[in-house]
Amino acid sequence: ATATEAREVRAPEAAVESGVPHRAPVVTIMGHVDHGKTSLLDYIRKTKVAAKEAGGITQHVGAFEAKTSKGKIVFIDTPGHEAFTSIRARGANVADIAIIVVAADDSIMPQTREAVAHAQAANVPIIVAINKIDLATANVDRVKQDLIQLNLVPEDFGGDTIVVPVSARSGEGVEDLLEMISLVAELADLRADPKGEFSGVVVESRVDKQQGVLANVIVQQGTLRVGEFLVVGENYGKVKALTNSLGDRIKDAGPSTPVQILGFSEAPTAGDTVVSAKNEHQAREIVAGRVTTRRDAEEARKRPRQTLEEMMGSLEQVREVNLILRADTQGSLEAIQGILAKKQTEDVKLNVMLAGIGAPTEGDVLLASTAEAQIMCFNVTASGSVQKAATQKGIDLKSFRIIYEMIDEVDRLIKGNQEPVFEERYLGRAEVRMVIRHPKAGLIAGSYVQDGSLKRNAKLKVLRGRQVVFEGTITGLKRFKDDVREVQTGYECGVNLDFNDIQEGDVLEASEMVDVTPA
Ligand code: GDP
Repeated sequence: ATATEAREVRAPEAAVESGVPHRAPVVTIMGHVDHGKTSLLDYIRKTKVAAKEAGGITQHVGAFEAKTSKGKIVFIDTPGHEAFTSIRARGANVADIAIIVVAADDSIMPQTREAVAHAQAANVPIIVAINKIDLATANVDRVKQDLIQLNLVPEDFGGDTIVVPVSARSGEGVEDLLEMISLVAELADLRADPKGEFSGVVVESRVDKQQGVLANVIVQQGTLRVGEFLVVGENYGKVKALTNSLGDRIKDAGPSTPVQILGFSEAPTAGDTVVSAKNEHQAREIVAGRVTTRRDAEEARKRPRQTLEEMMGSLEQVREVNLILRADTQGSLEAIQGILAKKQTEDVKLNVMLAGIGAPTEGDVLLASTAEAQIMCFNVTASGSVQKAATQKGIDLKSFRIIYEMIDEVDRLIKGNQEPVFEERYLGRAEVRMVIRHPKAGLIAGSYVQDGSLKRNAKLKVLRGRQVVFEGTITGLKRFKDDVREVQTGYECGVNLDFNDIQEGDVLEASEMVDVTPA
């Protein structure tokens, strides 16, 4: 997303009209390892944080506030897209702007792609900082050229991606970078009401042996106050103390302020939202409500999967297939993307969120779970832990050795998205001649097929006279002792069905759902 898009995404008219005050932008720094994320954060912290006269020690509260001529900017302390996306995976969006750091001597690297994909998936405006321009081997133009592959077209190439050359070592360009951040923030028109209801997002937490649980939170709305009751996840606590990033004890904290909260009895998870409660009673009630909701959801998950109709209903809305591609080489990635590009139809958009070289990572799984994407791998396989993470999150992660098998799978996905049309087709009918209650096999309707055929898993109606007394499926089908798939007219068979009241003389009418989606 660019600065101009950011304005559209983030400026709800209501907020502008209501005179809600501006708030400082919250910025995260991402990029490939060793490209200088930490160095850039350190440089900004050293030069832009108004450290206390005594000692000048800042406190690690998960983020720090930089003072610039254009106002305050909050930097999240943990660089990297894993932290960013694990917060997003819990439904929170804490960063307003993502700085993608690219080393001028190294250009786009695998984690640069990942970082960009994560920021784009979150719809967060991106500023590119080309770092290490002090090096003799720096090649800023090459980086700008390479950025185009990632859909980040620099302004001087006619695009609208802001690119700032910097050196975290000499400090060159850092001032420009801060200015650009303020500019993008201004366009995004970030506002929050300090008088509104408090909510914040946990960026980190830990348990300190002496002090207890310390939660680092960035205030998103309202004002957080000492003494207040807070709810986070399924826990609540009372704020005993608040510490700001300079290590000062404070009494309250408004929007975009990073603070450390002392007062929870259990460490909350990064990405959890913290809200306030009027009193302890209300805090307890909120927690109880959440526990119930979670248990209900767990119960619902245990129930049978969607019915066909529900499935068709939900498929109707899906117009995009999100994919994360992983392959062994750049060549195979490009080949796959080339074929996929031709596969899009008017109805279905294939959206490759990330195309990377090498095995899928846990970061990919997080991205897939927040963006509802499928992960497809060619000639690379997921490690056990990544596989496990995917299974836990219910992410489709498939590996292929042959490109065309992968493409076939994509075809199936596209077809799945084309609002499949199913038609119920009559299969056949049978008369129940004998009801057998078998100790192991349960209830069996010994039947004679009079017309068409019966198939295992077919839909079934039980007719008694003119009345339908049961509707379900044929759960088992036997000829003598053998399980069979289908039994034709003129033959006898044993039919299993979940209907206890089956009687001699009942008629079984079978039908099946046929996919008649036009190819
Ligand atoms: P990170 O993994 O992205 O956090 O990268 P670091 O900040 O740890 O930096 C990796 C290496 O690059 C370190 O040796 C830094 O000293 C060096 N480095 C970072 N920024 C610059 C820079 O602007 N110029 C030069 N010459 N080296 C840099």
